[in-house]
Order: sequence, then structure tokens, then C-alpha cells
Amino acid sequence: MTIFCCQTEANRLDALYKLRLLDTPPCEAFDRITRMAARVFDLPIAAVSLTDVDRQWFKSRVGVEHTSIPRLQAPCGTVADTSGVLVIPDLLENDAFRDSPLAASGVRYYAGAPLITADGHCLGAMCVLGLAPRHTTQEEIAYLSDLAAMVMAQIELRHAVGRVDARSGLPNRNQFIEDFQDMQRDSPPDELRLVAVINLATPEQLDSAARVKSSSYLDELVNEAAQWMRSQLGLSRRVYHVGDAQFALFAPPCMTVEDYVPVLKEKLRRAAGLASSRHIATPSVGVAPFVLGGANCLDVLRTAQSAAHDAIGQPGSIAVYSRSEDAACQRRFLLLNEFGGALESGGQLRLVFQPRVDLETGNCVGAEALLRWKHPELGNLSPGEFIPVVERSGLAQATTAWVLNAALRQQRLWRHAGLDLLLSINVSAANLLEPDFVAQVEHGLHMYDLPASCLELEITESAIMSHPGRAHATLEAIAAIGVRLAIDDFGTGYSSLSYLQNMPADVVKIDQSFIIGLEDDQRKQSLVTTMISLTRDLGHRVVAEGVECGEVHTFLRLAGCDEAQGYLFARPLEAASFQAWCGGKVAPHSQGRLLRALA
Ligand code: C2E
Ligand code: MG
Ligand code: MG
Repeated sequence: MTIFCCQTEANRLDALYKLRLLDTPPCEAFDRITRMAARVFDLPIAAVSLTDVDRQWFKSRVGVEHTSIPRLQAPCGTVADTSGVLVIPDLLENDAFRDSPLAASGVRYYAGAPLITADGHCLGAMCVLGLAPRHTTQEEIAYLSDLAAMVMAQIELRHAVGRVDARSGLPNRNQFIEDFQDMQRDSPPDELRLVAVINLATPEQLDSAARVKSSSYLDELVNEAAQWMRSQLGLSRRVYHVGDAQFALFAPPCMTVEDYVPVLKEKLRRAAGLASSRHIATPSVGVAPFVLGGANCLDVLRTAQSAAHDAIGQPGSIAVYSRSEDAACQRRFLLLNEFGGALESGGQLRLVFQPRVDLETGNCVGAEALLRWKHPELGNLSPGEFIPVVERSGLAQATTAWVLNAALRQQRLWRHAGLDLLLSINVSAANLLEPDFVAQVEHGLHMYDLPASCLELEITESAIMSHPGRAHATLEAIAAIGVRLAIDDFGTGYSSLSYLQNMPADVVKIDQSFIIGLEDDQRKQSLVTTMISLTRDLGHRVVAEGVECGEVHTFLRLAGCDEAQGYLFARPLEAASFQAWCGGKVAPHSQGRLLRALA
């Protein structure tokens, strides 16, 4: 029984604290009701009194100086304990309150009506007090109860602000968080529960709708969906409006993923068929399981949101949270964040250089600069992992700027040392859209006093094809300043002959996937032979990437390939090792200068 009472009091206090009313400044909306109470009862004192652990705190008061009094022996405390109306005609005649501090201060009359929340917790009392004994009519009691209800309406209204989405009228993310915490507290621990997140459309669809429609389009989309979900769930279950066009709901207790996914799938199919937006918006649903007790609400919501994102394009547009997908996503996020720091702080990034060898002479004619990242905690990270992440982010431009600067600085040092080589760097699709990219390249060459002909930019086919028109214009401008252009990873993208024909590229680099294993693969051999003769016929120099063995080397030389790059010659090397490696493998005219410089 005591445990039950303690629990009830703990829940009551929790309900009070959640409203964040205690110790807040006075407010006219409450004071108006308090003044009405004093006037109607024609009494000098009235208050909205909230019952804290050990005090009665007055949110609003008339005729009282203090902002709080001790809870012990305060009649409002009794109202909070009993949740009932309390009338004391004369405190001096009442055994419980005769010796109370209130009676000692001269108060003789008390009437208080409980302030009860929608879920039944009594927060305190709307009370009136007099300095003389007094009789109370039933009508007055009813009136005081009405005023208490008005106070509660005011409290709940204030609380609802910030908890209900104005557009859909549905509880919002704040309410989701609060309900989640209540569920953690009130449900048995270790219970497995499910949360579903529903996206009404893909981010791209919302984006393109925002471009052509006014914001009322989103309102209509949201309202139609909200109405439908309310009709499906009934009054007993809540659906939360947690993002612009995103909703969340908890599965009923005891539902397993296996039970719930088909239910959601069917609902989604029906809803998608009915929605007026069915031709332009594709909804998707993510489901995330969590264990009550120790779950972090925002983490649970995030996992369901990420599953809803993964659901785009999946059968039935539904996906269940996958730990491995999430881990990959977290890793990408981590890398991006850390890479931004690496670009700023210095010391973690460096370039390595892989020689490019002329197949006819065997001389080293150039090098490809490749980015390396050594993170202080994560260690060496592969560009195969971090470059795709960087290229999808806003850091692609800054990365190329870093690489360009480092490569040109190195090129300057080598040229001083008499090493006369072509240096290539890899650039991203985003660079081709930068309005001042060509100016940046020119500025870099100027800063290091280098001729444009010592630099080559490598661009993949897919980077060019992502914005063919603008990319082409940038490439023309690069070619016009005398910087060489190479099409990287040729054969893996569109490989459209018409684009190759119009491209101002000097070099085509055949992707290593065609070269590795070429020695045992006749199909690859025919493909590579055709690629070589075709690109040479179009006037490009051909470079084969990924040459690992002598047989492939010979095959390529006989097939007319101009240059090769690969482990057979050298792995990507640190700047100093590259210079040492080059010692005997550069064209004679630059070798003399190199040897002099190295001596
Ligand atoms: P990529 O531009 O095609 O560079 C060639 C990749 O093939 C390099 O990998 C190189 O180490 C590797 N490779 C060279 N020879 C052989 C071989 O004989 N066998 C095999 N199996 N591999 C060989 P890496 O350095 O890991 O770079 C991977 C990719 O990351 C590059 O492919 C490029 O797309 C990108 N990347 C590297 N550095 C940069 C950079 O500075 N900027 C940009 N945007 N991308 C870069
Ligand atoms: Mg490359
Ligand atoms: Mg390549």
C-alpha cells in the first residue's frame, strides 16, 4: 500500500514537473482567473497553488506576499493528496488545521478545488481564503471547480504549444520524446517494441515539389496523410508528426517484426493507391526494434528514420533497421566529419605518386598524384573508402584545392631538381561545376611558376556525364589554357563514343578492371584491343591502369597502348621514394638534370 502511495505521488510529481510550471514568472492569464475567484467569493486571498514535494508554490496569487508555503499542514496539500474539493469553514474549528501555520497567520476560511490533469494527476488547488469563518454554497463550490478547470485548460494549452504540430494537429517530435520516456518508465523493462517512421515522399520528390508548388502543397500532402492515419489508428493510438513530411508511430505491444511488416506493407499499398499525390510522391516506411528500459529515444527515432531512408526503392518501400547499414552510415558520417578536420588542421593528408611508363621506351613520363589520409586514431584510410564520401559532400571542391596545391608544390620541387615530368591529379564532378575552377588552376600554376603543360587533370566518365553541358564547357576552358585532360577509369561509365569524339581530352586511361587478369581472359583481350585502337584513332593517347605482370605489359605494348601504370612498375610512392625510383627511369634529357640535382 505504501509502495502504491509512493508510486502515485511519484507519478503525480512527474506530471507536475513535466509541465515545467514551478518557479516560472507570474502570468496574466492565470492572474485573471485568480482575481475572478477572489471577487466572486468576496475574499481577500486567492491563489493557484501547486503542490511540490515539500512546498505549496503559487503560480498566481492575490492577497499573499510569499510565493510558497510549506506543504505540511497546508490545506492545498490535502487537496493534492485526495484530488477532491476541500472546504474548511473555520480553521480554528478543524482538528487537522487548528494548529497550522495558516491558522497562526490569521486565516480562518479555506476552499480549494483540485487542479486535475487529463490523465488524472492532481497538481494542486485553485483556492480562496478568508480572515473570518464562512459558509459555502453548492453554487460557489461549482464555481470554484469551474475556475480550477479553467486554470487546467490554460496549463494544458500552454503545455500543448510546442507539442502539437500546427499543420497536422498531430503530436509532434517533443511529444514523441515525452511519450517514449513515459513508456520506458511505465512498461515492463526488457520488453521488445517497434517504432515505424513513414516518409510521405522521397527527399528529391519534396525538393522538386517545393520548386514548382507553393508550401500549401506540402500542407495538403501532410493533412491528407494525417487524416488517413488517424482514421486507421483510431483514438486510442497516437501518430506523431516528427518531420516535415514524416510521421512516427509505435507498434502495439507484443507485435514482432514478422507480424508488423506485412501489416504496414498492406496499409502502405492501400494508402499509396488512394493518395491524391500517388503519381508524384512515393511513401516509404522504416521499422526499428528497440528494447524498453535502456533505449535512447532519439537514437531509436534516428534508426527508424534511417530505415525509412533505406526503404526508398526497396520492394514494398519498407525496410527494417539494419545494424550493418547503420554502421556503414555512421562510418560515412564519421569519415566526412573527420575529413573536414583533416583538411583544416594539416598533418594528416599527403600525396603519393605512381609512375606512368612509356611502353615503347620504358621511360617514366609522368606520375599520378594519389591522396593518402592517416587519421590519428583511425589510422590509414583508403581513398576507395573516403573519396566517394567526400565527393558526395560539399568538401569535394576543398579537397581538390588541397590536392592541386600540394601537387603543384611538389612539381615545383621536382622541376628545381631537374625532374621534368607530367603530373596528374584526380578531380571530382563538383569541380567541373565550379565557376572559378579554371581560374583556380591558373592561379596555382602561376603561384608555383609552372607551365600549364606540366599538369594533367583526370576526370571520370561518370563525373562528366553527371552534368554533360557544364562539364564540357569547363573541360574546353581547361584545354584552352594548355592543361592536359585525361578521361579516368574509361570503360566503367557510359563509354559513349559520341562523347569521346567531342571530348577535348589528350589521354584516355583504360580502367584497371579491364587490365587485371587480362593475361587469361580472351574477351578482355579483344575488348582492350578495340578500346586501344578506337581511342588512338580518335587522337587520344592511351594509358592502361593496373598492370601487374609482364605478360600484360607485353600484350599492351603489342596492342599499341602508349603508356601503363601499375604495380609491375611501382606502387604509389612517397615523394622522396618516387624521386629515387625515377633516378634511372626518366627520359635522357631530364635524367641528366635529375642526376645533377640529386648529386
Ligand atoms: P584512380 O584515379 O583510378 O587511381 C588508380 C588506383 O589504382 C589507385 O588507387 C592506385 O593505387 C591503384 N593501382 C595502381 N596500380 C595498380 C595495380 O597494378 N593493381 C591494383 N590492384 N591497383 C592499382 P588508390 O590510390 O587507392 O585510389 C583509388 C581511387 O581514389 C582513385 O582511382 C581515384 O578515383 C580516387 N582518388 C585517389 N586520390 C584522389 C584525389 O586526390 N582526388 C580525387 N578526387 N580522387 C582520388
Ligand atoms: Mg586517376
Ligand atoms: Mg583510374
